[in-house]
Amino acid sequence: MIKKDKIAIIGAGISGLTTAFIFNNKGWDVTVISKDDPRTSFMNPEFSSLYPAASIIPHSVYSDELLDLFRVSNNYFHSLWEGKFPGVKVNEHFELFAYNQPLPNYAELLTNLETWDKFNHEFHPEHPEHAVKSGWKFRGFFADWGIYFPELIDRTLNQGVHFQKKDLQPGDLSDLPYDHIINCSEIGSVKLFDDKYDLIYRGHILHIKDAPPLFNLQGNPVSYNFSPDLTTYQSTSGTLQDVYCYPRNDGWVLGGSRQEGRINESGNWEGETVHEPFMKIDGLKVPAQILELHSKIIHHSFGIDISNLSPPKAKIGYRYIRKKDNGLRLEAEELGNKLIIHNYGHGGAGVTLSWGCALKVAELLEARV
Ligand SMILES: Cc1cc2nc3c(=O)[nH]c(=O)nc-3n(C[C@H](O)[C@H](O)[C@H](O)COP(=O)(O)OP(=O)(O)OC[C@H]3O[C@@H](n4cnc5c(N)ncnc54)[C@H](O)[C@@H]3O)c2cc1C
Repeated sequence: MIKKDKIAIIGAGISGLTTAFIFNNKGWDVTVISKDDPRTSFMNPEFSSLYPAASIIPHSVYSDELLDLFRVSNNYFHSLWEGKFPGVKVNEHFELFAYNQPLPNYAELLTNLETWDKFNHEFHPEHPEHAVKSGWKFRGFFADWGIYFPELIDRTLNQGVHFQKKDLQPGDLSDLPYDHIINCSEIGSVKLFDDKYDLIYRGHILHIKDAPPLFNLQGNPVSYNFSPDLTTYQSTSGTLQDVYCYPRNDGWVLGGSRQEGRINESGNWEGETVHEPFMKIDGLKVPAQILELHSKIIHHSFGIDISNLSPPKAKIGYRYIRKKDNGLRLEAEELGNKLIIHNYGHGGAGVTLSWGCALKVAELLEARV
């Protein structure tokens, strides 16, 4: 096949690699340039793709195009699942609240959606002391991260996509020897494209290695989010926090937190921190409610005692929201003699929207060349 134009994709997270996959398959000559190598990085809160849980649900993301992007992505995950793409799974997923929570606007896109009034007498994960007052369940896709992300790396970086490890500076952009540039540098865009921003949601996750799958009464895999009331779990500035449990092949991912803040000039966190009570895991201060709430929900609903499993490992990563009003930036920009297509600001939904965003980038670029 004769290769089309040469494009550089800045960023080797889920957005950069998904975009690379699409363009590589379309026959473009693709180079991914990234300061982090996804094959060797483990810990760097600014490299979000080291942390996703990763449900295919548009949590903590702000975009005027959300419904379209989620529809396209969800359909794409459906086709990957049908084609047995490694790591794409389906769970019966519960979103449960200890207060009255209206359905989100994307609910119309959820498969087999049932609301609390329909299933409240049937099986559902539950905390023995915090009764559920509202919620919904559906069949949701999940990316089992330890399988899915390496597979995507393999299908891009080992199948024709070039990789260059480089920490790009703003002055490098105009001299890059490529016909077009796609920017998937997420939080790196703040410096690289001088984009002022308002907000990050910082998130704690615990990993319990080798924990068993959780099943409903029909034997289907289950995952859940639970939002207790404000007095049970809040951040230092009083925002309500929720917890989630996503079983995967290598154990459970137990979230979480959504602490609001930003990174200052010296690269340090400024914003909400962990409210009392907290615990220290791997030297990291972690909200004690994460383990406390899950322990009781899982024991009560599935009969498993967490204290009999491997001790949890803790991590913290940043969800780059950018701004609460249409924070996701998906648009073309002329920078000197270069055409740049931006794809960043995915908040807590970079995996969820990855295919929708990558296909939109292709549409934007193909409309210009
Ligand atoms: C705790 C937690 C839980 C989450 N759970 C979910 C979930 O359940 N579902 C979901 O959909 N999403 C979830 N997310 C969000 C998801 O992880 C992110 O939205 C996604 O990983 C963003 O991917 P990205 O490729 O856009 O950015 P990143 O993964 O941050 O990648 C950015 C890339 O740009 C590169 N870069 C930056 N600056 C430069 C530069 N100057 N020069 C060269 N390269 C540069 C970096 O090296 C990196 O390769 C979660 C996030 C966290 C923290």
